[in-house]
This record gives sequence, structure tokens and C-alpha cells, in this order.
Amino acid sequence: MQIDVSKLLQSKVGDTSSYKLSEKVENFDKEIKLISPISGEVKLLRTDEGILAQGNIETTLELKCSRCLEMFKKKIKIDFEQEYVPSWEKNSDEIREEERQEGFIIDESNKIDILETVRQDILINMPMELVCKSSCRSLCDQCGQNLNIKKCKCKKVKSISERKLKDFLK
Ligand SMILES: [Zn+2]
Ligand SMILES: [Zn+2]
Repeated sequence: MQIDVSKLLQSKVGDTSSYKLSEKVENFDKEIKLISPISGEVKLLRTDEGILAQGNIETTLELKCSRCLEMFKKKIKIDFEQEYVPSWEKNSDEIREEERQEGFIIDESNKIDILETVRQDILINMPMELVCKSSCRSLCDQCGQNLNIKKCKCKKVKSISERKLKDFLK
């Protein structure tokens, strides 16, 4: 997902431009599949260091439910902000060094690649528990039946905490 920033690099600090985005990305991540293009708008600002990109994008992910193990779709919106600095400027400044290592650079052909920024923002915004819906009934822990689809005939074994609670309520 490359954006040509050569024009903006030649203009003065504070100048802006914006870029409409709609791009299908294959092989986004090992565990996350994108099933719609990454689309939205990226605003670019010329800073004295380089280019600040502010993005407002959305896409749809395909994820696996951690309870019932079925795949489900999730639409997400991401707002990101990332500064890109020219790769050809030699500078021992620590922050720049870090950005260069993480790939937040303007390359020799005056392009920035925002995919890595987008990827990191999606990963950061990922919920801890991925569930298809909050009421997901998960799988039966004995026969493996997906309880969202139908009930199974297994006898429910009460967990220790449930039993304790029952005793307590007697
Ligand atoms: Zn589920
Ligand atoms: Zn069962």
C-alpha cells in the first residue's frame, strides 16, 4: 500500500494533501484474513522531519471464534497516525533510528508504505477474546457439538465453582 509523497516533500512545512484508498490485500497476516479492501482516506502533512500520515480506514476481517471455533466476519475502523522520515537522511537521532528499523520511512523513490502501520494498528485494536457474538454458546466440552447450532444430549457436569455456589446457597 504505497503512497507517492514526492510532491508534498517539495512543498513547505505545514502543507497537506489527501489520498483516497481502496486496496485489496492478500497475505495480510498469518492469523488474520482481510475479506474486503482496506478503504478510507489518508491525510498527509509535510513536517520538518518528513511526512505525517493520518489515516481513517476500514476493512472487514475474517476471524476464528475462540469459543465455537467457527469463522466470523468483523468490520473494523482504524484511525492511525504515523510519521515517515526520509531513508536517505543520515541522522543518529534515536527516534529516527527506531522508525527506520520498523520501516516507517520514505524510500528513495519518495514513497511511503502504510501497510505496516495499518497492520500494527489492527493488531493493537484486536479484542483479547475473539468471539463471534457475546452470546456464543461455545462447543460442548464432552462431545464437541457446536451448541449454537443444536443442543447435545450430554449430561452437564457442574464445575467445582458452580457446585460450591450451590452448597453455599443451601
Ligand atoms: Zn462462536
Ligand atoms: Zn455434548
